[in-house]
Amino acid sequence: MTTIAQLLAQSDLPPLEARMLAERALGKPRAWLIAHADETPGAAAEQAFAAMADRRRQGEPIAYILGEREFYGLDFGVTPAVLIPRPETELLVELALERLPADAAARVLDLGTGSGAIAVTLARLRPQARLTAVDVDYAALTLARANAKRHGVSVRFFCGDWFGALAGERFDLIVSNPPYVAEGDPHLALGDVRFEPQRALVGGADGLDCIRAIVAQAQAHLLPGAWLLFEHGYDQAPSCRALLEARGYAEAQSWPDLAGIPRVSGGRAAVNNLK
Ligand code: GLN
Repeated sequence: MTTIAQLLAQSDLPPLEARMLAERALGKPRAWLIAHADETPGAAAEQAFAAMADRRRQGEPIAYILGEREFYGLDFGVTPAVLIPRPETELLVELALERLPADAAARVLDLGTGSGAIAVTLARLRPQARLTAVDVDYAALTLARANAKRHGVSVRFFCGDWFGALAGERFDLIVSNPPYVAEGDPHLALGDVRFEPQRALVGGADGLDCIRAIVAQAQAHLLPGAWLLFEHGYDQAPSCRALLEARGYAEAQSWPDLAGIPRVSGGRAAVNNLK
């Protein structure tokens, strides 16, 4: 008879991953698994674990197998239609929160919302804010909507290309985690990224196509002095600041993630941008 402890050990997966899959297969939390490590799992649970472990050994991301990933302390549904929310994107959320007063009805736009992790987190933590989120992919929007519902927040969702659905609208803050990996980047052939939607990752030959479009178009959708903040690649901060400066944004700057890598850049719309 195989015990729970043996099942995990024999799975050939890193202990943390084996545990996450076992929690799901047995429908029990970590503490239960530890307390019951010497018991045998039921046949159905053992089979469910084996099937998930097999998928994982073939490279499929844990987040897609479980259909969930935690971001900023909240659980989000994820599917292969969207990028898996990443810890470095929490920096973007923090910078946005710093600019959103708790007591004002700020209009906030999230471009390329994917799972909705950024927009839904901001809506949860700033209940007064009015969130709008767009994505070009309808399947992503369906998921983002479900995530908003799951966390009890109301977000206006639009299907469209950046500002395509937002003619004439202006915001107090625009955030985005756009595709920013360069075409052919070897990193695209590694690990979880292989299973993620290319359209959510790749931003043209130098990775900056989407950032260029957003920086160029956002001016017309920001209120005077409002911030545009976006995530980018580890080596793109100088180019991003140059793009912001060339378009007349004030206070163009970059911020490091927890690994010390400049990961988010932004600037403020010119105060005379309403013409
Ligand atoms: N940081 C991600 C990666 O390197 C890319 C995310 C994105 O393109 N927005 O895989």
